[in-house]
Amino acid sequence: MNLTSQKNTIAAVATGGVVSAIGILRVSGPDTLSVIDAVFRPRSGAPMSEREDRQLVYGSLLDRDGALLDLCLCTVSRAPRSYTGEDTAELQCHGSPTVLRAGLRALFAAGARQALAGEFSRRAFLNDRMDLTQAEAVIDLIHSETEQAAKNAAGQLGGAVLRCVQPIYQSLADIASHYHAVIDYPDEDIPDFQMQAYGETLSSASAELERLLKTFARGRVMTSGVPAAILGRPNAGKSSLLNALLGYDRAIVTDVPGTTRDTLEERCELGGVLLRLTDTAGLHDTDDRVEALGVERSRRAAEQAALAISVFDASEPLTEDDRTVVETAKQVSSRIAVLNKSDRPALLDPDSFAPDFDAVCVISAKEQTGLAALEEAVAALFPLPEAPAGEILTNERQADAIRRALSSLQAAQDAMQTGFTPDAVLTEAEAAMQAIGELTGASVREDITQRIFERFCVGK
Ligand code: GDP
Repeated sequence: MNLTSQKNTIAAVATGGVVSAIGILRVSGPDTLSVIDAVFRPRSGAPMSEREDRQLVYGSLLDRDGALLDLCLCTVSRAPRSYTGEDTAELQCHGSPTVLRAGLRALFAAGARQALAGEFSRRAFLNDRMDLTQAEAVIDLIHSETEQAAKNAAGQLGGAVLRCVQPIYQSLADIASHYHAVIDYPDEDIPDFQMQAYGETLSSASAELERLLKTFARGRVMTSGVPAAILGRPNAGKSSLLNALLGYDRAIVTDVPGTTRDTLEERCELGGVLLRLTDTAGLHDTDDRVEALGVERSRRAAEQAALAISVFDASEPLTEDDRTVVETAKQVSSRIAVLNKSDRPALLDPDSFAPDFDAVCVISAKEQTGLAALEEAVAALFPLPEAPAGEILTNERQADAIRRALSSLQAAQDAMQTGFTPDAVLTEAEAAMQAIGELTGASVREDITQRIFERFCVGK
C-alpha cells in the first residue's frame, strides 16, 4: 500500500480498545463528507455535508443496512483547517469497543479504509500542518510518564524546537544565498564575500545549537527515566522501600534473608523524576548458587545505574555486607543512602554516610515516613535545565541532526580560520542547513519519515 497516497479516505478508532465512557472514530480524506453522510444521520436538520465546520451535532450512527449502532455526536472540519489539513470528521460514540468496531465497519462500507499507524499525523506533516518536531511531540505527549515530560512535549507541539532552529537555518540560508549571488552575478553591484560577518553568524549558530543539544542529556532522563538500582544487604528493606515508592506490593517482602532472588524493574515518578528502579537481590557474600547469581545481577545493575539508592538497616550495627554495599554504590555516579527502619532505635549515624553519598535520608519504609526527603534528594540530583517548556530536547533523531549540524558548522569555521576559499565554507554551511532541515522535516528522506510515523498508534 502506498503510504504517501492521500487520495484515500482513512478511518480509525482514535481511542483505546478498552471500555470507556466515550470512544472516538476519526475520518480524514477527500471523501470524508460523503462517508459521514452515509453513516451518520443528524437527529434534526441537514446532513453533515451541508453544515458548518466544528459544530457538534447529535444523531444516529447507522450500519450499512441502516440499522442503529449508537446515538452519538459528530463534528466535521474541512480542509485546510483541520488536524490533517484534509476534510476530517469525528464521531463521539459511547465507549464500547464493540460499537466502535461496528461503526468502523460502517465507515469502511461507505468508502473509507483502515488508517495505518500514524497516518493522520503523517498527513498533517505532509500537508504542512506541523513540522517533524511537532509530529514527534504528538507521540511523546501521548507516551509521557511524568508531568514535566508532558509539559515539555506540549511545548514542542507548540513549535518550541522549530522556533529555536528556524532563525539558525535562516541565517545560514542568508550566507548561502549571498555567496551564490556574488558568484552568479559578478557584474552586479553586490557586496563581496563578508567573511567576518559569516564567521559571526556561524559561531552564534553553533552556540545556539550547543545550548539546545546540552538539554538532551536531561531530556533523555525525562522521557526514558533514570536507571536506578536499589542496593542493600538482605533484609535491609529494599523491597519494602520499592513497594512504598510504588504504592503497591510488587516485590515479595519476607523475613527470610535472600528472598528477592531476581531483579525487578519498575518505573515510578519521584520528585518529578522518572526512575527505572531495579530492586536487586541482596548484596552479600553467599555460597548459595542461585543467590550468588542474584548478587552478580546486583553488581551489574549497579554498573548500569545512574542512581544508586543504598538501603541500610539503621536499627542494626553496620556489617561487612553493608560496607560492600557502600563500595558497590561508589561505582554509580549519583548515590543516596537510605537509613531505613527509623521506627526502631537508631544504631547508625547518618553523618558517617555523608562522605560517600550525595544525600542521606532517614526513613521508615514500613511506616512510610521520610519519603518526602528522599523525593527532594532525587529532585536535587536531577534538576531540570533552565529552559522554557518545549526547549528541552528529548528525541535522539533530533539530537543526532543537531550534532551533525554542529560538526558542519565547526568545519565551516575551521575552513575560514585556515584561509580556505569561501567555497569550503559554503559547502559546510549547506551541510549544516541540510542537517537542520532533517530535524524539522524540511529536507528529510522519505524512509526516515516513514519510520517516525510507524511509531505512532493507529488513529493518531
Ligand atoms: P530486603 O531483603 O532488603 O528486600 O528487605 P525487605 O523489604 O524484604 O524487608 C525485610 C524485613 O524488614 C521485613 O520483615 C520487613 O517487614 C522489615 N522492614 C522493612 N522496612 C522496615 C521498617 O521501616 N521498619 C521496620 N521495623 N521493619 C521494616
